[in-house]
Amino acid sequence: MKPLPSFLIHRPRTVNEALKMLSELEKAKPIAGGTDLLPLLRDRVVEAKNLIDISLIPELRGIKEGRNEIRIGAATKIKDVEKSRIIFEKAPVLCDAASSIGSPQIRNLGTIGGNICNASPAADSAPSLLVLDAYAEVVSSKGSREIPVKEVFKGPKRNSLRPDELLISIKFPEPFDTSTMSFQKLGRRRGYTIAQVNVAVLLEFDGPVCCDAKISVGAAASTPIRIYEAEERLWNKRLTEEIIEDASTQCMRAVDPIDDVRASAEYRREMSHVLVRRCLMEAWNKARRLM
Ligand SMILES: Cc1cc2nc3c(=O)[nH]c(=O)nc-3n(C[C@H](O)[C@H](O)[C@H](O)COP(=O)(O)OP(=O)(O)OC[C@H]3O[C@@H](n4cnc5c(N)ncnc54)[C@H](O)[C@@H]3O)c2cc1C
Repeated sequence: MKPLPSFLIHRPRTVNEALKMLSELEKAKPIAGGTDLLPLLRDRVVEAKNLIDISLIPELRGIKEGRNEIRIGAATKIKDVEKSRIIFEKAPVLCDAASSIGSPQIRNLGTIGGNICNASPAADSAPSLLVLDAYAEVVSSKGSREIPVKEVFKGPKRNSLRPDELLISIKFPEPFDTSTMSFQKLGRRRGYTIAQVNVAVLLEFDGPVCCDAKISVGAAASTPIRIYEAEERLWNKRLTEEIIEDASTQCMRAVDPIDDVRASAEYRREMSHVLVRRCLMEAWNKARRLM
């Protein structure tokens, strides 16, 4: 195994200290759990002279329920998202996605912010955050901005943050109590595996009628995507298996996967169809039990 290149590690205790370091130190990069960054440094895919360890900044940790909004600090461990009562009750689709990431060791180190900022098209938290309409709170020493989480993803392993910017938190509106959700992931093994395709779905019903639908697919294009044209096929309808099949077929047409070591593009396309259908059926069945 290649040795790591040399770098200095800095451990700021506040966001302002971290931002100052990011803007003043040469080739500086944030590090949270390091589960993505350290292998990239070792393989010389990424270069950094100064690593700014953000894991000790209290403001970046924890999950809070505000007025109609849930906030997850960027350096919150995946394990804490997986075990959170708030996430389990309000956004179980994110809880399921978190519990599918890597192994317990990876979930103990890796963070939700790192999962997003690493910008892998297969990032398992992404489809769930996309259907939750999550947005990212980003700051630099010059100011702050909020962008939809899907806009953090620019391309494979490329995010839209400037080098002096830090992701502070991820926020999303609290879903209605009547929302039903589902997450599905397919990998080469049952566990400890990167997704060949991952899908999240969120449905809302007004009585028996589906009044809103959100579908997101990961690992099937250069970034995780929402498939609006499939969502529209479910709106204001009393769902049937045929309508769900039609929306799933639409997803298969909309994805744009690649061949790689994990799967062929063709397999990914077909599995997008299968996973979307499974998610929609699961969310619809949950809704029917509530009706
Ligand atoms: C064995 C193994 C298995 C894995 N399995 C999975 C899996 O099943 N599913 C999955 O989705 N991922 C998986 N991963 C990838 C990884 O564990 C996750 O993406 C994890 O959430 C990354 O978080 P981190 O805190 O370790 O990120 P880091 O490695 O610390 O950072 C990743 C990138 O994001 C940047 N960054 C981190 N935090 C911030 C911030 N707050 N603001 C700005 N930039 C930031 C860093 O500079 C770096 O470029 C696996 C990794 C390994 C090694």
